[in-house]
Amino acid sequence: VTLSPKITSQKDELGKLGQTFNEMIEALREHDEKQKQFVADASHELRTPLTVIESYTSLLRRWGANDPALREEALQAIQAETSRLKGLIQALLRLAELERMEAEISFQPVEAVALMRETAGRLSVAFERDLVVDAADERIVCWGEPEPLKQLFVIVLDNAVKYSRRPVRIRLSRERSEAVIVVKDEGIGIPEADIPHLFERFYRVDKMRHRSSGGTGLGLSIAKQIVERHNGSIRIRSRETRGTEVEIRLPLAEESS
Ligand code: ADP
Repeated sequence: VTLSPKITSQKDELGKLGQTFNEMIEALREHDEKQKQFVADASHELRTPLTVIESYTSLLRRWGANDPALREEALQAIQAETSRLKGLIQALLRLAELERMEAEISFQPVEAVALMRETAGRLSVAFERDLVVDAADERIVCWGEPEPLKQLFVIVLDNAVKYSRRPVRIRLSRERSEAVIVVKDEGIGIPEADIPHLFERFYRVDKMRHRSSGGTGLGLSIAKQIVERHNGSIRIRSRETRGTEVEIRLPLAEESS
C-alpha cells in the first residue's frame, strides 16, 4: 500500500508525539523511583542512630545504676548518636530548603574571597586548624546567592578538615568568566572506585571508618545541588593516603569579569 505524502507525514508526526510521550513517562517514572529511593535511604539513616539510642537506653535502665563503665559508654554513645541525628536532620532540611528555593532565585554579586576568608576563619577557630586562603585577586565577584554559597564553602572546608590532620589550602582565582576555587588537603584521600559516587545522597566511602567523624553522606550532594543552581561545576581529584582536591567553578558577576 502506498500512502499519500500527507498521510505519511501525519504518521511521522504521530510517531514523534508517541515517542515524546514515552520519554516523558519514562522521565517521570525515574523521578518517582529516585524519590522513593531517597525516602527509603533517609528513613534508614534516621532509624540507625535511633536504634542505637534505644538499645543503650534500655541497657542503662537495666544495669546503669550498678555499672559505672557501662553507664559512661552508654551516655557517650547516646550523645554521639544524638548529634548524628541532629546533623542528619539539618542536612535533610537544607536539601528541602534548596528544593523549595528552586523557584525563587535571587542572585546578586557575591564577594567570593571575602566570603571564603570569613568561612575559613570561622572553621579555623572551631576546629583549631590552619586553613590558608590564597587569592590571586581580592575582588573575585560571583553571581550567586550568599547563603547557599556559604553553605557550599562550609561543606567542602569541613570535609577537608574532617579527613585530614594537616593544614588545608584554599586558592581562589579567575579564568575567563569563571571564579575557580580549589580546596586542597593532605588527608586520607579517597579510593578511585568511590570517586564517581561521591555526589550521591548518603554515599560514604567507608561507613565504619567515618562513623566517628559524624558524616551524613549528604554534604557533597548538597554541594553539587548548590553549584548546579549557580550554573557552575564541582570536581574532585584524590589519591588515597595523599589527599584530596576539590575544584569549584562559578560564573563571575559581570562587574568582575
Ligand atoms: P560526609 O558528611 O560523610 O562527609 P559528604 O557527602 O560530604 O558526606 O562526603 C561523602 C564521602 O566522601 C565522605 O563520607 C568521605 O568518605 C568522602 N570525602 C569527602 N571529602 C573528603 C576529603 N576531603 N578527604 C577524604 N574523603 C572525603
